[in-house]
Amino acid sequence: MAFYVQKYGGTSVGSTERIRNVARRVARFHSQGHQVVVVVSAMSGETNRLIALAREVQSNPDPREMDVMVSTGEQVSIALLSMALMALNVKAKSYTGSQVKILTDSAFTKARILNIDQDKIRADLNNGNVVIVAGFQGVDQYGNITTLGRGGSDTTGVALAAALKADECQIYTDVDGIYTTDPRVVPEARRLDRITFEEMLEMASLGSKVLQLRSVEFAGKYKVKLRVLSSFEEEGPGTLITFEENEQMEQPVISGIAFNRDEAKITVLGVPDHPGIAYQILGPVADANIDVDMIIQNVSHDDLTDFSFTVHRNDFNNTMNIIREKIQPHIGARDVIGGDRIAKVSVVGVGMRSHAGIASKMFRVLAEEGINIQMIATSEIKVSVVVDEKYMELAVRVLHKAFGLEQVL
Ligand code: ASP
Ligand code: MG
Repeated sequence: MAFYVQKYGGTSVGSTERIRNVARRVARFHSQGHQVVVVVSAMSGETNRLIALAREVQSNPDPREMDVMVSTGEQVSIALLSMALMALNVKAKSYTGSQVKILTDSAFTKARILNIDQDKIRADLNNGNVVIVAGFQGVDQYGNITTLGRGGSDTTGVALAAALKADECQIYTDVDGIYTTDPRVVPEARRLDRITFEEMLEMASLGSKVLQLRSVEFAGKYKVKLRVLSSFEEEGPGTLITFEENEQMEQPVISGIAFNRDEAKITVLGVPDHPGIAYQILGPVADANIDVDMIIQNVSHDDLTDFSFTVHRNDFNNTMNIIREKIQPHIGARDVIGGDRIAKVSVVGVGMRSHAGIASKMFRVLAEEGINIQMIATSEIKVSVVVDEKYMELAVRVLHKAFGLEQVL
């Protein structure tokens, strides 16, 4: 007998028919004697619909009221799933985040979980119930409803698994696991049986959208055993996210190719090479709450250097204005240039730690296709390059092949 927290995403509960399917799957686990806590998202499209409604009424919706509203999507799903289980003669009970209670801070629309009460859930499980909890939401110390940011139901699932010490947190979604890259770009992409937590963190942060990044961080911190599976296929092992590196002899050096079209690059040209310059450039950007990803500064010539960095594409215009108006005149930089038609492509793998030559192989493969590399950044387990957006898919395909990641048929 095991104890599972299972999370079902929006497409898995997208219609009453699909909710009945989820109920059948949960009922099967329950009848095998396992204890199950289920976390669900809102029915697909519902959160977007609610956000659009809010914007019709208030151009910049009040965050507290926004959370009161968007949390209703999940409330509908939990009740429907509970009813669907009852219709199968399974004892079930649903709770909203505040009923549980999932205590969060008061940062509306992006709250963080502080504590989870376990008493009701444990009592219900011990009475033979399946317990269903609304994802994405909680309550602050003053009783205000909060939400955890888009995709936050993953984090609810992982947090519940951590708090209740579940044997495994199973994330059911519309793909059957984590792939070597997006199969829509590379049809030969292969499902991974296992991926290490660190690789998953890189893949998630580099734009592989299967899991909310925060949920992966949470799983790492609390050592939650996490598995991604399909809710549409009957059986399948999915992908297990492991903590120790797989000690197989033939461990692949590279686990996957991640990519991201959400970035824009900005270069400040002819910057005086003096102490404090990097801070003078990025300080005002940080003050405007803009996240910076890659940062590159070369050695200087004649006391002048160029300083480049990337930001989210949505922040591009805002960042350019800040640099042009607040920074360039101050530091006496020659010019500011930028572009938002870029993409970041990364090879990821813990095996890189013990293998030389991954970066040079990556650069050779891109050169053979005539793809120009605009920026480069590395960490212990990844090499990222910025290329022109129009070459992104080509770059992903040739790298996927060169690193031998295709399906072995
Ligand atoms: N329903 C929320 C969203 O669409 C939370 C989630 O699905 O994880 O972002
Ligand atoms: Mg999701």
